[in-house]
Formats: sequence, C-alpha cells, structure tokens
Amino acid sequence: RKLVGKITTGSRNFDELLGGGMETQAIVELYGEFGSGKTQVAHQLAVNVQLPPELGGLNGSAIIIDTENTFRPERISQMVMGLRAIDDREWRPEDFLKNIHVARAYNSNHQILLAESAMELAESLRETEHPVRLLIVDSVTAHFRAEYVGRGTLADRQQKLNKHLHDLMRFADLNNALILVTNQVMAKPDTFFGDPTKPVGGHVLGHTATFRVYLRKSKGDKRIARLVDSPSMPDGEAVFSVTMEGLRD
Ligand code: ATP
Ligand code: MG
Repeated sequence: RKLVGKITTGSRNFDELLGGGMETQAIVELYGEFGSGKTQVAHQLAVNVQLPPELGGLNGSAIIIDTENTFRPERISQMVMGLRAIDDREWRPEDFLKNIHVARAYNSNHQILLAESAMELAESLRETEHPVRLLIVDSVTAHFRAEYVGRGTLADRQQKLNKHLHDLMRFADLNNALILVTNQVMAKPDTFFGDPTKPVGGHVLGHTATFRVYLRKSKGDKRIARLVDSPSMPDGEAVFSVTMEGLRD
C-alpha cells in the first residue's frame, strides 16, 4: 500500500476535524443543501492539491467531472491570488488552471464514461511533475436523480451508481488520489451512501475509506462541517468561512 497523502482545506478547523486534511485513497462525500459550500470546497481542494507538501498540498493535479456547469476558472484565480496572504510567492492563476482538467458530464452515462477516461488521463500523468491526486465529481447524484424518477427505476439507478462508485474507488486506490464527490440534499439528509445511522463500508466500499461531511450555512460567510461516521475520526463539527480569498478559519 502507498502512503496516504493529506490535502489541506485551507481551514485549520476543518483540517483538524478530518485528522489533518482530506486523505488520498479515500472518498469524501460532501453533502448539504444548495449554497452550503460544496462547490466552493471542491474549487479550493483543486487549488490546494497543487501546493507543495510544506503548504499542505501534494504537488498534484486535479480532474473535475462537472455535472452542473458550476466550475468557474475565475473562482480558481481568486483563490490562487488568496494564497499570497499565506505564503509570499508569486502565485499565478494560469499555473494552477493548467493542472485542473475539467470535463462537463451531460448525463449519467456520460458521467460514468468520463470517470473511465479519467483513469487513462491519470495514467498518462503518472510520471509527470503533477500526477493526479484529486478527482472531483460535482455533483455525483444530480444526473441520476433527474433521470431515474419513480419507484420502478430505483434499483436500476442504484446499480448504476454502485458501478460508478466502484470505478471511483478503484481510481482512488490506483492513483493514490482523493475522490471528492458532492451530493445536494434537503435539510433532512437523504445521503447517497445510505442511512447516516448505519455503518458505512462492507463489501461494496472495499477497503477504501469513506468520509461523509455534512455542510450547512451559518452566520454570514460561516459554514459548519459535520463529520459523520468516519472510519478513523470521532464525529464532530468545525466552523470555517468561505471568503473571497477562499476557505479560511
Ligand atoms: P448547490 O447544491 O446548489 O450546488 P453548493 O453547496 O455547491 O450548492 P456553493 O456554490 O459551494 O454551494 O456555495 C455558494 C456560496 O459560496 C455563495 O452563496 C457564497 O456564500 C459563497 N461564495 C461563492 N463565491 C464566492 C466568492 N467569490 N467569494 C466569497 N464567497 C463566495
Ligand atoms: Mg454546487
């Protein structure tokens, strides 16, 4: 087994909740209502994975499967400029944008295909200076929800989702990468990985760890992250902010 890597969120509170950042060889499911900050966290991780280890990164690159057309290069630029307050280097947005490979998924089958092609892209980048250490699927559930409506199709949907998840877990293991997926839920959490009161894991998830993080809005730019059913960390909450410069305490 390869050594697990950790990627900073940009917030010390959030990092501590996760045991020092988001881990590779794991799937992190960010779930929460619209506007809770899932896409913001995803953008920040796509920046931070590229940082050198001394700043909480892995010198890696990122792949984003964008299903809702919410990737914004300008937001990446803002976050890169925000790095200047953390470390006095000449950070340049274009240097970061070139290591973020974005693909728009038009439907659930396309999304599954893109996850398969991500594997090939990661292979071709494996021996470069910036191997892929992060794969984002934002949102992992939206297309499936929209396409499979009604009771008769639920089993079908679940089977497709399970296959997709399997591919993602394989990606995490083979590339020593973090898989970050988002899942919009209503105030009452109906999460993709099942009932939050039941243990997660078992034969479907294999040995890939799954962290489930519930995000919710608080006052102003504050957000609350709640860790649910982590394999290695106690459940708990952390407060962080989404600022123009990116995620902060
Ligand atoms: P959805 O389920 O609809 O996809 P989400 O959880 O992905 O929602 P985000 O898009 O991550 O939500 O969060 C949007 C919020 O992030 C905005 O309402 C705002 O509070 C904050 N935000 C977005 N861009 C900026 C910015 N440039 N500067 C500061 N805050 C921002
Ligand atoms: Mg979003």
